[in-house]
Amino acid sequence: MKSLVDKLEKERILSRDEFKQLLSEKNEYLFERARAVRHEVYGNEVFMRGLIEFTNYCKNNCYYCGIRAGNKNAQRYRLSRAQILECCELGYELGFRTFVLQGGEDPAYTDFVEIVKDIRTAYPDCAITLSIGEQSYETYKTLFEAGANRYLLRHETANDAHYKQLHPEGMSLENRKKCLWNLKEIGFQVGCGFMVGSPGQTMDCIVDDLRFIHELQPAMVGIGPFIPHKDTPFKDCKAGDFQLTLRLLAVLRLMKPDLLLPATTALGTLDPQGREQGILAGGNVVMPNLSPVDVRSKYMLYDNKICTGDEAAECRSCMQWRMVSIGYDVVISKGDPICIM
Ligand code: SAH
Repeated sequence: MKSLVDKLEKERILSRDEFKQLLSEKNEYLFERARAVRHEVYGNEVFMRGLIEFTNYCKNNCYYCGIRAGNKNAQRYRLSRAQILECCELGYELGFRTFVLQGGEDPAYTDFVEIVKDIRTAYPDCAITLSIGEQSYETYKTLFEAGANRYLLRHETANDAHYKQLHPEGMSLENRKKCLWNLKEIGFQVGCGFMVGSPGQTMDCIVDDLRFIHELQPAMVGIGPFIPHKDTPFKDCKAGDFQLTLRLLAVLRLMKPDLLLPATTALGTLDPQGREQGILAGGNVVMPNLSPVDVRSKYMLYDNKICTGDEAAECRSCMQWRMVSIGYDVVISKGDPICIM
């Protein structure tokens, strides 16, 4: 196992069988190396992103997601332009220099480009990250020109058959990947990612994910455990494996030393120390919630999502002490990737 870790660190990719072997069991050396590499590139700094969940309307029906169009129990909301700008204002005061605007695919949100322009004008020293799903090349380009810098679009799974198990007809892995390549071509810092333990996922699917990531060379990768939501077709499926998620974070760090790698809310939902563990496994980003408290519980992607009751300032300070408690430091910075090659 030690030799596989060394090989991954050196070559940044492994064969299918090697990846499967490396992921199959506990391996302290893997975490040690991932942490060491992370320290070489980013020291003990943790970048912070302020997450603004601005709409939970969605036209899609992904089988895993709590805000899927078919969930009639979801209470829908859409933040106004003024509300979004208020979140940014508060976030800026709290030291956030990246705003992540995430939402369902909400076609009724027509003034979104204007909102991006407003944020860009008001906060020239901040990064704007968008996470609003699959859009046309032209839409992505317009958003980039309006001032957005980064785009998160998890590919969800790089295995075609598995993709079809997670999504209804009309959605395709091909289009998802096309979107990611388009975003990259336009000039966004791109983030892909996947859920660990989504229904139907095999180790081969995970290796497909790692190979796709190796091919795409994204600036960021968001991974977190799948967690069932009670109003979805996957309500009776079991959650993803916590330890496997940590191992994957470490593997990703070794595959791409400068990667922006969040310790996600889903990881924190599965285990009270999840985000700390995620950082110790090689992560370097946390994403405290900046959404207004009254909408938090409506952006329920999965059951028991944490931090739905706390004010932004509480989330900010909670994250600070969590990171300090493990020897890391949350920094006031845009947090761009450090180019090492
Ligand atoms: N509409 C946007 C944002 C989706 S929500 C988009 O398509 O990119 C952000 C991420 O939450 C998804 O990409 C998915 O990977 C994750 N997610 C959704 N449902 C989940 C669940 N039940 N468990 C864990 N993660 C989930």
